Amino acid sequence: MTQLSGIAASDGIAIAKAYRFVQPDLTFTKTTVQDIEAEQQRLAAALAKAEQELVAIQQQTVEKFSAEEAAIFEAHLLVLKDPELIGPIKQKMADEAVNAEYALHDVSTMFVTLFESMDDEYMSARASDIKDVTNRILAHLLGVHIPNPSHINEQVIIVANDLTPSETAQLDRNFVLGFITDIGGRTSHSAIMARSLEIPAVVGAGTATSTIQDGDLLIVDGLSGQVIVNPTADVMAEYEEKAQNYRTQQAEWSTLVNEQTLSKDGVHVELAANIGSPSDLDSVLRHGAEGIGLYRTEFLYMGRENLPSEEEQFSAYKTVIEGMNGRPVVIRTLDIGGDKHLPYLPLQEEMNPFLGHRAIRLCLDQQELFRTQLRALLRASVYGSLKIMFPMIATIREFRDAKAILLEEQEKLVSSGIAVSSDIEIGMMVEIPATAVMADIFAKEVDFFSIGTNDLIQYTMAADRMNEKVAYLYQPYNPAILRLIQMVIEAAHKEQKWVGMCGEMAGDELAVPLLLGLGLDEFSMSATSILKTRSLLKQLSVSEMQALAAEALQLATAEEVIEKVKQAVK
Ligand code: PEP
Ligand code: MG
Repeated sequence: MTQLSGIAASDGIAIAKAYRFVQPDLTFTKTTVQDIEAEQQRLAAALAKAEQELVAIQQQTVEKFSAEEAAIFEAHLLVLKDPELIGPIKQKMADEAVNAEYALHDVSTMFVTLFESMDDEYMSARASDIKDVTNRILAHLLGVHIPNPSHINEQVIIVANDLTPSETAQLDRNFVLGFITDIGGRTSHSAIMARSLEIPAVVGAGTATSTIQDGDLLIVDGLSGQVIVNPTADVMAEYEEKAQNYRTQQAEWSTLVNEQTLSKDGVHVELAANIGSPSDLDSVLRHGAEGIGLYRTEFLYMGRENLPSEEEQFSAYKTVIEGMNGRPVVIRTLDIGGDKHLPYLPLQEEMNPFLGHRAIRLCLDQQELFRTQLRALLRASVYGSLKIMFPMIATIREFRDAKAILLEEQEKLVSSGIAVSSDIEIGMMVEIPATAVMADIFAKEVDFFSIGTNDLIQYTMAADRMNEKVAYLYQPYNPAILRLIQMVIEAAHKEQKWVGMCGEMAGDELAVPLLLGLGLDEFSMSATSILKTRSLLKQLSVSEMQALAAEALQLATAEEVIEKVKQAVK
């Protein structure tokens, strides 16, 4: 039995076999081949295995997802059987007496370079298909295994170095019971996705991929951040009991689903949910959210080969707004960049992508992209209560420019006879310390703020939210962060504007008492945290929490704040 410690990223306990989701090493050397015939047969065998594998993946994808999602594998099969690709590879092996790996790599690189240089969306998708297929054949030639999450047909726990948001989105909840990653923090997007998929996860476990083998029995404790590899019978029994206790607690919380969120002294705050797609709605309603505090629209743009059209976006936004039945829905405009990329929207390599050309900066620069999204949002506004917010605002100029574009699109729609709601609130995320410091100025122009602590902490503490080496500096309870939050809430309330928080801190049980005391109006979190937080808020009185927050603001360290909260909230 071995034990690993990481960061508890998504509540719950999962027990299952390990499935390593690790890209294999595909390096090879060029060699001269004596027996060309045998080498041709080796290539033929690798091609046959790759084909078998693709056919199986394609079938499973159709069964588990849809024919549309399986189309990519149809394209891969066409590449695999394309004589214009395979012919020259065989020819090169025969002419130059080189090994199959070298000939395959050399010929496919030539096609990839050619297609990529064409600056055409269709051809660049073909280049990416050729790369994928080449890697699959190469893996068979080298006798290594390429993992594919859609291939999984038994219950497993995924072990990966990291999972991109689009890889996480492909995980099938019926089979993937949990995951563990080497890197990442509580606010990395794989962790956020795990919470929305409601699967237990531990991230930043350091050496998971080098310690854990395929098939090892694993326990993932997403409550404490512990991972147990091949547990003894005693430990197994202990965790089965812990899992049972957690289920009992969940059943207790679920009785609060239709209750209002009231503090012990009767003050109402709003508990809202963060979502990434319309398919999260079911979970949002099941967990009794009073609204949606953050719809991360970038997920609509990810895991596909082209931009979503205005119609597609309209339909997604309408589904969410209508589905919430008049309850408030805060939709954030596209926040791409940082750790979120679009394969079809090539962005320049940046030294510091989190400080780079992302979110509203990109949208103000690529206005067609932005305007399309705004039109879809405005058209969907008539189906309920929509609030729009802009991400990563740093200056008042950016807010004014973004708002002006929004109003321009609104005017154009209205003058062409398309209905748009007349009471859409327009707000912004507070994620950059400069905006928190200037909140009094912003408060005069916005309808609301939503504090994005995931980034606000990262930028205030200069500690990358993805990097477990500096996770010790990523301190939500640092008085510096609390003071910034207080400034934002005070400035907004002076102007009679409301303040929400959609960073992960809003659902953190040690932060909630402080945020209640600081006067936060709306707490937006993973749907799975809502009932737990409602139960906690019922036990807290605003007047006591105000005193607690005032004391916390005067403390010197995060540790002192944690201690103080623990004493106050037993
Ligand atoms: C945040 O930064 O707190 C936030 C909610 O946005 P994201 O996590 O998507 O960067
Ligand atoms: Mg952010």
